[in-house]
Amino acid sequence: MFEWVYTGSLPTLDGNPERSVGGSHISAWDTVATYKLVNKLRCIPFMDAVMSKCIKNHRSHSTFPSMKAIGKIYDQLPQGAIYRKYASMTLHYVISEHRSNEVMKHWPTSELHELLLAKPDLALDLLKLSRDQEPGQHVKNPKKLIPICTFHVHGVDDPCKDRE
Ligand SMILES: [Zn+2]
Repeated sequence: MFEWVYTGSLPTLDGNPERSVGGSHISAWDTVATYKLVNKLRCIPFMDAVMSKCIKNHRSHSTFPSMKAIGKIYDQLPQGAIYRKYASMTLHYVISEHRSNEVMKHWPTSELHELLLAKPDLALDLLKLSRDQEPGQHVKNPKKLIPICTFHVHGVDDPCKDRE
């Protein structure tokens, strides 16, 4: 937080490679805990900076939030938090658009079932996304949505350094 206050940017999320588990990338700092704090403080520029950092990290490493991370996001952040929107849209995209063995291995149906049973808010958000999906259309990958402001909370007309 101090780095952001003094420099206006956040430290990299690239962690120590030795901290990777089973090929999954482990961030150098906890974006969910950080977002929880700045969401409570309603520090909008910081909230948006965390989301940008997180999404850009997922883009550059070709990764998604893990099931564990999605559970944590729903545990720690309140209804309406934009980080929850990113998590539920990611889950919707993965289960709708990916059928590879690799995805099935990392997102097994039995564990998804347990996750949805444990997080009724997530199940509801997923149901709403499914109902809102245009029939016959592909689900869009949330990390590739342009502008990234989809996951920011600043005003529509506010300037944004991350607007693409
Ligand atoms: Zn923005």
